[in-house]
Order: sequence, then structure tokens, then C-alpha cells
Amino acid sequence: MKMRRELYIDGKWLRPIKGGTCPVINPATEEVIGAIAAATEEDVDIAVKAARRAFDRDGWPKLSGSQRATYLRAIADGIRARQAEIARLEVLDNGKPFPEADWDIADAAGCFDFYAGLAEQLDHHPEETIPLADDRFTSKAVREPIGVAGAIIPWNYPLLMAAWKVAPALAAGCTVVLKPAELTSLTALELAAIADEVGLPAGVLNIVTGAGSVAGQAIIDHKGVDKLAFTGSGPVGSRIMAAAARDIKRVSLELGGKSPFVVFDDADIEEAVEWIMFGIFWNQGQVCSATSRVLVHEAIYERLLGRLVDETNKIKIGNGLDEGVLLGPLVSKRQYEQVTAAIEAARQAGATVVCGGTRPEGFDRGYYLRPTILTDVPLNSDAWVEEIFGPVVCIRPFKTEEEAVELANESRFGLAAAVMSNDEVRAERVAAAFRAGIVWINCSQPTFTEAPWGGYKESGIGRELGRWGLDNYLETKQITKYVGKSSWGWYIKQEAAE
Ligand code: NAD
Repeated sequence: MKMRRELYIDGKWLRPIKGGTCPVINPATEEVIGAIAAATEEDVDIAVKAARRAFDRDGWPKLSGSQRATYLRAIADGIRARQAEIARLEVLDNGKPFPEADWDIADAAGCFDFYAGLAEQLDHHPEETIPLADDRFTSKAVREPIGVAGAIIPWNYPLLMAAWKVAPALAAGCTVVLKPAELTSLTALELAAIADEVGLPAGVLNIVTGAGSVAGQAIIDHKGVDKLAFTGSGPVGSRIMAAAARDIKRVSLELGGKSPFVVFDDADIEEAVEWIMFGIFWNQGQVCSATSRVLVHEAIYERLLGRLVDETNKIKIGNGLDEGVLLGPLVSKRQYEQVTAAIEAARQAGATVVCGGTRPEGFDRGYYLRPTILTDVPLNSDAWVEEIFGPVVCIRPFKTEEEAVELANESRFGLAAAVMSNDEVRAERVAAAFRAGIVWINCSQPTFTEAPWGGYKESGIGRELGRWGLDNYLETKQITKYVGKSSWGWYIKQEAAE
């Protein structure tokens, strides 16, 4: 598959005006395997203007939902038709094991299909009648696309995060300028190629690659953008919200977390170990919803920890393209340095590294780190409080349900939380007590396109996926009609008019 190094703007592949590039580095080998275009403000301006024309003049929002759905389904088919190739590209760019990448790409296609279905439903329920107490009026609410959406995404699920934003935005009738993360832009460029092949009208989807501080900043500052949709870190999320505040742009944010996983003593230990591992080692722990704080009832703590360490030490580490690998390299040198620094800081704060914490033996190159389990982590230390965004889990015992819930909720984040218990009533009670936007019972991480996704507290604003994801890109307009039998008669009295 050819690596693209241009920007996709207004249905054309364009070189960036200033000609800059960013290197593409394979995190498994540290080799430079290509380059992407580094867009600047000038390129972003052309892209936003193209999206504006497609929205204001060329009629994308005027198409019926079913017509837009045809394009979305064609994109889904296009992704599936080259699923393995795109998954391979994702591995080269991001480092994740191939089966995970393959799953992501299938999910991305499914996301386009799902929003095609919701686009069709917009035709079936174009308006909602609002019953009014005053029978001199009728009123209805109609939903219309917001306009041009500026979408900015992170590097951990490159194509999937693009799909989570592009699919609902196009379904709603918005046009899009998308900026993928500079570390992982290759599959978003493939999405552009597929959109082009299926004949998506020019300007409806524009993809600009480049640095966040340059191309990203230009999108969030552009007056022609009506809505900002962002997934990424808290500090950048704050900047985006501030930029949105200046122009009263609509904004939705999906930020980080430090999500808890509470395991009660009636849980099956083998099941618990499996889900704890899935909750933190999947995608090398570079998952916003990773359950990185595990609380285990003291009655089973030692036994569970022993099994967790055994199984964690067995995880096959390696190049994501190699057979049987379940843990690839971290995405970049910077990420590797940040995660290893966080482990060292935890050690300094008094935590015990019971397994991992170092490079695996035999790996001289690549950003590889052994999966890491920390115990005795002080509750006020960064390791317990801050997102590490790597394969690092903190685990501690608890005595009572009350204590577990309190510890779980003691965080400025509120993205996700998980509970494991064979007592259904208890599991539901704890699920209700969690202050988090996503709660898993007897599992951790499974994510469904149909269900709402997003965080409480500093983990974000708004919800993606499901019908909530479509709402992110729609305005609501009320249309009220006067049907009274006589004149309104406030200024012009009926007698005077006669
Ligand atoms: P990041 O915030 O550094 O970057 C995210 C995106 O923002 C990138 O495309 C980047 O180029 C862009 N960006 C950076 N500075 C910008 C600026 N000034 N203006 C506009 N855009 C700018 O985050 P990251 O390091 O790519 O991703 C990791 C973070 O993302 C983690 O904190 C993680 O929790 C979070 N995340 C959250 C979710 C979720 O669904 N809640 C999903 C994935 C990742």
C-alpha cells in the first residue's frame, strides 16, 4: 500500500503550501519509514473554506439522510475491502498487535454502517411536534447539521477515532476538517483515499496532517469552523474549550482518565485476572478508559495478585506483525520516556514494582516495556492519581464496599469504572455509585458503537457513539406557527383595525 504524503483538501491531494513534513517512525524498529505533510495555517484555511463551500453552497446538508447514508455505507465497504492492508499500516504506525489493529479497522467500518442507519432514520423522523398548552400556536422541532466540524484526534486508535467523529458528522450533514495525530496519520489518509474513490463530494471531508500546535491550533482558531470535536489529553482539551469559548463554537471533548476496577471476594479469580489484564495491557495500556487502579477485596488479594503476576509475565511481547504477540511497543520515544519516568517516580514515592518496569530482554530497539504491576502505591502519589497511559497498573486491597467505592470515586477524572462480583445486586449498587460515564460489570473495556461514550468530571464533555454521537453534530430548530382565529391584537386592537 502506497504511503500518502499529501493533504486531502477539496477532493484533491495537495502538497502543503510551505512544503513541511513530519517523519513516520515505526515504534517497533525506531526506523523512519516515511513522511507525512505538515500543514500550516494557510493549508487549514483552504481546507476550512472548502468545507464551508460544501456545506453552504454545494448541498451536502441538503441531501436526504438516505443519500448521505449511501456514501457512508460505501466508505464502510471500502474500509472492509482493504481491512488487512489498513490494519498492517496501523501496526507500522502505532505499534499495536495486528489482531488489535484488525479489530479496530473492522470497528471503524462498522461505525460508518451504524451512522448510515441513523442518517436514514433522520428522514423517517424529520421533525417532532411539540404539544403546546396554547392552541393558537403549533410548534415543531427540527434537527439540522451544525455546519463545519473541526475534528482533532489522538494516536492510540488512529482510524477508529477518525471514524467516531467523521461518521456521525457526515451522517448529520456536517462537513469536516479532520486532523489526525502527527504520530499516526497514515490510516486517516487511507480513509481520505476511500472517500475519494467512493465519490464523496469535494470538500465534504478534508484531512490535514501536521503538528497539533500548528495545524491543530489553526483549526480551533478558524472562524469558519462551527463545531470542535476533540479526543486527547486534558491540557489540550482545555485549550480547545478556551478557543471554542471565544467564538461560541460547539464543542465536545473526550479526555483522559484514571479508571478504577473493583473486584469483590465472590468474584472468580481467573475471570478477574483476565479482565484486569484486558483492562490495562490491551493497546499497551494506551487507552483512555484503561482500568489502571485496581481495588481487590482483602480476602482474595494475595491469591489474585499471585495469579495476575504469573499471567502478566507470560504475555508475549514483540513486533505487532509477529504471530502471537499480545503486547507491542509504546507509540513513540516520548511516550516510552514518560511511562518509564512515571514508574521511576512511583518507586521513589514508595511503590513496589512486583513485575515489569523494565525493557524486556532481547529488545535493543523499539519502544518496548514489560507490563508492569505496582503495589503499595501511596494514594497521594502521581502513580495513583495521574494517567500514565502505558501498561502500568496499580493494585491495592480494600476491606469494605464503602471504602472501595470511596477510593474508586476519589479522582478528578470520571471516564470509566468497572466492578466484578457474582452478587448482582451488589454489582448494580456499586455501578450506580460510580461517578463515571462508562461502567462495566464483570468485564472491562468492551466498547459498542451503539452505546454512549464519554466522561464525567475532567474526563470530558458530551458523548460520542450511539444516537448521542449524532446529537453532537446537530442543532435543534423550533418552528412555531400562529394559527389563532383572531388577530394577535397587542398593539393593533381589533376594533381599531376594523
Ligand atoms: P494530545 O492532546 O497531545 O493530542 C491529541 C491531538 O490534539 C493530536 O492530534 C494533536 O496534534 C492535537 N493537538 C495538540 N496540541 C494542539 C493544539 N494546541 N491545538 C489543537 N490541536 C492540538 O493527546 P495524545 O497524546 O495524542 O493522546 C493521549 C491522550 O488522549 C491521553 O491523555 C488519553 O487519555 C486521551 N484519549 C482520550 C480518549 C477518550 O475517548 N476519552 C481516547 C483516546 C485518548
